[in-house]
Formats: sequence, structure tokens, C-alpha cells
Amino acid sequence: MITTHPFDDDKLREECGVFGVAGAVDAAAMVALGLHALQHRGQEAAGISSFDGRHFHNHKALGHVAGNFDSEDTMRQLKGDWAIGHVRYATTGETALRNVQPLYAELSSGGFAIAHNGNISNAMKLRHDLVRTGSIFQSTSDTETIIHLVATSRYRTLLDKFIDALKQVEGAYSLICLTDSGMIACRDPLGIRPLVMGRIGDAVIFASETVALDIVGAEFERSVEPGELIVVSGGEIRSHRPFAEKQSRPCIFEHVYFSRPDSIVDGSSVYSVRKAIGAQLAMENPVEADLVVPVPDSGTPAAIGYAQQSGLPFELGIIRSHYVGRTFIQPGDGVRHLGVKLKHNANKPLIAGKRLVLIDDSIVRGTTSLKIVQMMRDAGAAEVHMRIASPPTMHSCFYGVDTPERSKLLAAQKSIEEMRQFIQADSLSFLSIDGLYRALGEASRNDDRPRYCDACFTGDYPTTLTDLAERDQPNQLTLLAERVAG
Ligand code: AMP
Repeated sequence: MITTHPFDDDKLREECGVFGVAGAVDAAAMVALGLHALQHRGQEAAGISSFDGRHFHNHKALGHVAGNFDSEDTMRQLKGDWAIGHVRYATTGETALRNVQPLYAELSSGGFAIAHNGNISNAMKLRHDLVRTGSIFQSTSDTETIIHLVATSRYRTLLDKFIDALKQVEGAYSLICLTDSGMIACRDPLGIRPLVMGRIGDAVIFASETVALDIVGAEFERSVEPGELIVVSGGEIRSHRPFAEKQSRPCIFEHVYFSRPDSIVDGSSVYSVRKAIGAQLAMENPVEADLVVPVPDSGTPAAIGYAQQSGLPFELGIIRSHYVGRTFIQPGDGVRHLGVKLKHNANKPLIAGKRLVLIDDSIVRGTTSLKIVQMMRDAGAAEVHMRIASPPTMHSCFYGVDTPERSKLLAAQKSIEEMRQFIQADSLSFLSIDGLYRALGEASRNDDRPRYCDACFTGDYPTTLTDLAERDQPNQLTLLAERVAG
């Protein structure tokens, strides 16, 4: 019975990381390492599927990579030279093990395991159609839709079935699939979520970010191109371009916050881009102050850039405990507040009597900024000026970066002056959208042909959002849902 809609229910929107190894001894152990480097992309659950030439082996569990894959027994069971893995989280609600990836199915062509980073924005519509014609879903994950579309495709080969399936989905997908005849990696036509390819010896590696190649000692070869589908099979690597060519729109928020600073994303060092963002912020929003202080860790590279550009000293005025997860990731507002206190502490002797420029990468609900500004005042700061290294987050992401619904986004509800009052800062300003593009090497956003998906800042969604449109005009699908449910 389908009772919830993905956009009413936070748990269906996920952030994720994917990793795959094609043709290496102890592939699953390499995947566990790769996932460890991608842990920041999802801290709720992790899974690995491997193939030993005859059988598939799967292990999935809630929790961190290190805890899930630390036992020799588990690793011994994940036999084979081919393996894929996935890390994920969802922010609220029940965390069902059945949604943890890789998802696995026995298709007419054989075993099929899939790991997905992104979000399919017509999954609900497709799911209704599939359920009506007899498909039986085992999870509430949008990724399962792809499996059913492959299973029910009328094409003959698995590759053609897979392409047929992808042509029906809209939204963001970086996928790694393991079959009994090889591995398939694919990036949606707009390339919204990242995916890279590397090599170690004869093995081919796919990963969400280059940091995951570094950890296993693999060489970064190139990004999987938007709209490209790569098949590794029988000692060969084949690249396919099954989709009509479109101008790519990779996610700009990967550069602002999501990717690790030591990754190369879309050909740019994330760390260098974040420093350039900080320099832009200093040019656009200067302030008379004594110290530039980052909200660690996410604000640190931008704060270095701000300090270098402004000539103000950079100091660690807030110390972060590394034994707590990302604040945002703790489910429930109560715990989220507690998380901020657990995570950050004021470096009191440094701060007392000083005028501070505080730098963070973004304001979402405003919880972090409110707490941190208060913490600086309690530590005796003379003035607290908040500078945010991205434009105001005004819109939800429907492409795989978890953001709360619009009603919970501070910038969607308040003017900048009202936000300043809310977080109780002496001043507050954000980077402009053109400033963000300048930090990425563009002259400006170019509204006719923006290079990135920046929908969280602009509301300019580069794909149709079928399920969202249906939620806002519920007639047909709701009726269908009731019929299906009944
Ligand atoms: P908030 O406290 O709700 O305003 O969230 C802002 C903080 O969360 C900032 O310090 C960001 O570094 C971090 N953040 C922003 N976007 C996300 C996201 N999608 N997932 C996890 N953390 C985020």
C-alpha cells in the first residue's frame, strides 16, 4: 500500500556515496575503504554487494562503514573480484533496512545489484504505473523503480533494458550496477551528481569523489561524463552515449559544502574553489573586525580565503570535536540542537573582547548560526559579524542533497535583516550567486545557460519535477493511489 508521497516524507530524500571495483582481488575490502572515504556523504547506513563469478554476496546494515565492515567473517563472506557499495542517510523517520543499498534483484538476465546517488523526481509516478501492472515493491526507495523498469522492459539484452529504464526516469542519478557479466556505471544526462573513474593495476574503480580513489591508491582517470554509460566486462571498457545530448548542470552545492575539500569535482579542486569563494565573499562583504573565525570544518577553507583577501588574521576561535557526526544529520530538532553544543566549543581566551567575522558555508534552518553566535557572545566577543559562503538557501533540493521542506528554510521565510535578528548577529551577509560562479571560474551566472544546477539558491530546477507537480495538483495520482491502496 502506498500511503506517503516522497515530498511529504523526509526519509525518501537521501544523500549518498557510491563506490565500485571491477576486477581486483579482495574487491569488497577495497569497497569498504572507498566507502570509508565517502562516509561524509551518508552516515546512516552502508552496504556492499560482491560477485565471485558464480554467486552474489550482500551485506547491508545501519550505521557507519567502520562498524559494518570490521569483522573478518563479514569480509570473508563478501567474496569475489567485483564489488559495489553505498553509504546513505535519511534525516528523519523510520530508517528501514530494506531501503539500504545496494539493492539486489534476480532478473531474467541474472543477478543485478544497484547503488544510486541522486534522486528520481518522477519515481512516484513510475511506481504507481508499475504497481498497477503487477510489480511488487520491497522498499520505499526511488532506486527500486529502476530495477522494476529494467525487469519489465521489452528489450532483449540487459544493457538495452537498462537504457530503456533510464530513458523513463527524470532527475539525478549517478549509478553503479553489478551484474554477473560485468559492471555498469552511469551518470544522468545533466550530470547532476558527481561520478569519477580510476584505475589500480588492471582494475577499474568508480566513485562519487576522488578522495575515495586516493584511499585505495587508485589513479584518477577522469569523470564519468554527464549522459555517459560505461560498461566494464570481459576485460574491456566500453563507453556509450544513449541519451540525447544536453548542456550539463552539475550540482553547485557539491563545491559549497557537500564534497570533501580534498576531492577534485568537475575538474576543480574543492579546496581551491572554497578559498576562492571566501575571497569573493571578502570583496563583496567586507567588515571592520579583528579576527576571521571559521565555523569548523565546513567554513574553514572559505574563511582562509576571506582572511587572505581581507588581510585580517585567521584564527581558530571555535574548536570542533571530531567525535560527533555532522550536526545536520542527527534526526529530530531536539537532538540537532544538542548536536551543535556537543560539536563546537568557543576558544574563549582568543575571542574575549574581539570583533569577529564568522564564516560558515550555508544557513539552512539557522540552528547552527544561532547557537554559534550565542556561543561567541558568551565567550566575550565584542561584535559578531556572520558571513555566509553561498547565497541564501531558498529552495529544497529534489536531486539527492537533503534539504528540509521550504517552510523550514530560514531564507525562504525571512528577509536577510530578519535572519540577522533571528541569529542575533551584529551583521549578516551572503555571497551573491554571481560571486559563487566567479569563484568557479565563470564571469557570472549567465541566466540563459547556467553552468551548474543551483536550484537550491535560484529555484531554477533543470528537470521537470513530475512528482512535485503532482503533489501540488493531486487529482490523478492521488485517485490512482487510493485505487492502488484500496
Ligand atoms: P542549519 O543549522 O540548519 O542552518 O544548517 C547549517 C549547517 O549545516 C551549516 O553549518 C552547514 O555546514 C551544514 N549543512 C548545510 N547543508 C547541509 C546538508 N544538506 N546536509 C548536511 N549539513 C548541511
